Amino acid sequence: MEIIEKAPAKLNLFLDTPFRHPDGAPEWKMIMTTIDLADYVKVVTVSNTKKIQVETDTGFLPQDQKNLAFQAAIRLQKKFRINQGVQIKIKKKIPVAAGMGGGSTDAAAVLRILNRIWQLKLNLNQLAKIGLTIDSDVPFCIYSQTAAITGKGEILEPLRQLPPVWIVLAKPKASVSTVNILKKIPYRELQHGDFVQAKAAVLKQNLPDLVGAMTNVLEQVTINELPQIANLKQKMLDFGADVAQMTGSGPTVFGICSKLSRAQHIVNSLKGFCEQVYLVQSCHLNTDYLLPQKFENHSQY
Ligand code: ATP
Repeated sequence: MEIIEKAPAKLNLFLDTPFRHPDGAPEWKMIMTTIDLADYVKVVTVSNTKKIQVETDTGFLPQDQKNLAFQAAIRLQKKFRINQGVQIKIKKKIPVAAGMGGGSTDAAAVLRILNRIWQLKLNLNQLAKIGLTIDSDVPFCIYSQTAAITGKGEILEPLRQLPPVWIVLAKPKASVSTVNILKKIPYRELQHGDFVQAKAAVLKQNLPDLVGAMTNVLEQVTINELPQIANLKQKMLDFGADVAQMTGSGPTVFGICSKLSRAQHIVNSLKGFCEQVYLVQSCHLNTDYLLPQKFENHSQY
């Protein structure tokens, strides 16, 4: 049997951290949305073997247990004592190590697919709980809908679709290590954003309020390593974006525009400075087939 799923990328509209847990994990206050830039994940089951194989079309991503998609498959295979192997093929469209949750969304897609193929009958909450053991962004990626995220990534509160906006993404060539950036968070110096206001802006689908409330406290940490991010952000604003911000631990910068013509102008203007530029929109993944109790309010997995 084989199933193909879309694995969409995420963007952080709001990213703050009030403290670090004793185990080193940050406590998060985030708002994430899903965009229509997605990997395609195909899973084929193989009988007479328990082997898990991962293949990507990039040539440089790990194909072994270091691949988060592999980890998703082995978690379910072990937990439910499945005597079947799987071949996972990933068509990468999401830039790697870009702050867009590429590995996490592939892992989430594998969890959703194998839940169907192996008829495990897990709901999204249960899949998200398993996903959290792989990476803090996997629970969000299981749902792939605009949401507020707290805890270590496991507490999701559903929000509404964004108002209809155009989003320009620019991914600089240089890459950063998320682990390294997270270690350097200067907790005493952080200027915290207003999470309640940001959530309210999304719930009201009020773009000016959202623009005013957006923040990413990791931005300055990454700019200290890669000053070009500040230039890219300024360029987006100069070319007409309503707001520009880094996503996750970077280095991708995104700009939001309410007008398509302005977004297209930014795309064309940035092409001389940055190789990877995309024009996308926010969207919600349809996971209705998976659930009775989809997206319970204030659900804690
Ligand atoms: P994070 O912020 O969670 O570190 P990211 O969104 O910035 O992630 P990813 O594209 O997930 O970036 O890549 C982070 C690392 O994860 C890379 O170094 C890559 O080798 C590894 N990785 C493992 N599996 C995958 C996958 N399926 N797709 C992309 N990267 C993967």
